Amino acid sequence: MAAPHPDQRTLHAGPGVRLDTQVIVVGAGPVGLLLAGELALRGIRVTLIERRHGPATASRASTLHARTMEVLDSRGLLADLGRPPCEARGHFGGIPLDLTLPGPYPGQWKVAQTKTEAVLEEWALGLGADLRCGHTLHAVADRTTHVEAAATSRHGTPLTLRADYLVACDGQDSTVRTLTRAAFPGTPPARELLRADVDGLDIPGRRFQRLPAGFAVAARNPAGITRVMVHAFGAPLRTGAGEPSYDEVAAAWKQVTGEDITGGTPLWVNRFDDENRILARYRHGRILFAGDAAHRQLPIGGQALNLGLQDAYNLGWKLAATLERTAPAGLLDSYDSERTAVGAAVLGNIAAQALLLLGGPEVEPLRTVLAELIAHDSVRTHLAAMISGLDIRYDVGGPQHPLRGMRLPHTVLRTGAARCTTADLLRSGRGLLLALDGPPPRLHPAYADRIDTLTAQAEPGNPLQAGTVLVRPDGYVAWAGAPGGDGLAEAVQRWFGSP
Ligand SMILES: Cc1cc2nc3c(=O)[nH]c(=O)nc-3n(C[C@H](O)[C@H](O)[C@H](O)COP(=O)(O)OP(=O)(O)OC[C@H]3O[C@@H](n4cnc5c(N)ncnc54)[C@H](O)[C@@H]3O)c2cc1C
Repeated sequence: MAAPHPDQRTLHAGPGVRLDTQVIVVGAGPVGLLLAGELALRGIRVTLIERRHGPATASRASTLHARTMEVLDSRGLLADLGRPPCEARGHFGGIPLDLTLPGPYPGQWKVAQTKTEAVLEEWALGLGADLRCGHTLHAVADRTTHVEAAATSRHGTPLTLRADYLVACDGQDSTVRTLTRAAFPGTPPARELLRADVDGLDIPGRRFQRLPAGFAVAARNPAGITRVMVHAFGAPLRTGAGEPSYDEVAAAWKQVTGEDITGGTPLWVNRFDDENRILARYRHGRILFAGDAAHRQLPIGGQALNLGLQDAYNLGWKLAATLERTAPAGLLDSYDSERTAVGAAVLGNIAAQALLLLGGPEVEPLRTVLAELIAHDSVRTHLAAMISGLDIRYDVGGPQHPLRGMRLPHTVLRTGAARCTTADLLRSGRGLLLALDGPPPRLHPAYADRIDTLTAQAEPGNPLQAGTVLVRPDGYVAWAGAPGGDGLAEAVQRWFGSP
């Protein structure tokens, strides 16, 4: 056996607070918070370790895509977001793309990341998750039967933790990834963008404009704050040089657009690049990774945050079932296989978009051809489903069926006098056996606390009209068929374990 990494040997150094829990989640960003809520919903004891002292204030992602909205709906969290504006118009590499698709929430929903985090935090804490702010994790060790971790509070007090599992949701510079030396292959950065949120600017809006000297975006929000984003073709990479000064942003803006923005008041500036990496494995024994800790990408098209939230949604119920000892063999490993495949696909489309957006004049012919193709509805819907996260199809096995492995289509149902949606039926965090034409097949009583069963009629015009569906807690169809059809018992065992 290899000698322990030095950080793994120092775990028990010194006195301090000791804490036993079932799952340690490192990082209370959006991904860690959603995961903690998913675990707490199932009654799992979960402790979040967060370096920040209080809520995040930085301006980051501002877009929730259709699939993420469906996920939040299935946990009853949409009302807490208020009434965010929605735009049907998106883009692929800066080429306009209509995101209209069948489903309840097509388009881009404009929600500041701080708002998403506040909603998720309130939900997770309300369900009993334990959040330890002001603690920085600095050591972790997988002891085969359990995991240990060490953090230090901002006052210097050591905190030692022991748990069954640890999930790293600690962002793009993940400490856990470094400590575990997890393989993180991909491509190094080649180009960078400068970005600033600026008050007091009166400049024309620019939507993904490619100009002779570079690329520029200017978007003013209802509060009068303008977000500018700029890349000067051929500019040297300064990754590692820390955040840019506003003067640097203004100089690049002048070079690319000819406009002077030095009179504005910068509220926030940063630089980011097109580094593109994904962990070879999301599961390393009792240590798992999700969100930016697992994949690093250009945050373009709002896909970074949405990809991470869906990692958490896929992992939560699988980890809970593992701890409840109902999980079938391989369930936790399916998190790794399912989400590394989705992550690789999304990072591939982000890399293509980075090239289209930031490439020099040589990409113009390609952009012209792609713009022509997007005018064809089959191409448009393919790309829109990809960006929106609606194209995901997991390999769930079992007999062929158009719904198999797809998300349960949003459907309005009637059960007697009551009316509900398929999203309402997922609120419990359990699986669902839904029969649309007759009573549901009888399951062994041991599944009663794993799978809800229901007979309902779909209202006319809804996509689900007949048959029976078995749905995983994350909303993906594990089995679909006629009542009494083949393979249901196998699907129940495959995803929900033995009776
Ligand atoms: C500057 C910037 C701008 C962005 N803009 C966009 C955008 O416009 N659109 C988009 O889709 N995405 C954008 N992103 C990406 C998006 O914000 C991320 O995809 C999203 O935040 C990922 O969520 P996460 O929970 O995985 O990680 P994070 O949000 O990074 O959360 C990680 C958490 O872990 C904590 N942490 C880290 N290390 C430790 C440690 N050792 N101990 C304890 N806690 C720790 C951090 O304090 C943080 O709270 C941006 C990212 C950055 C950095």
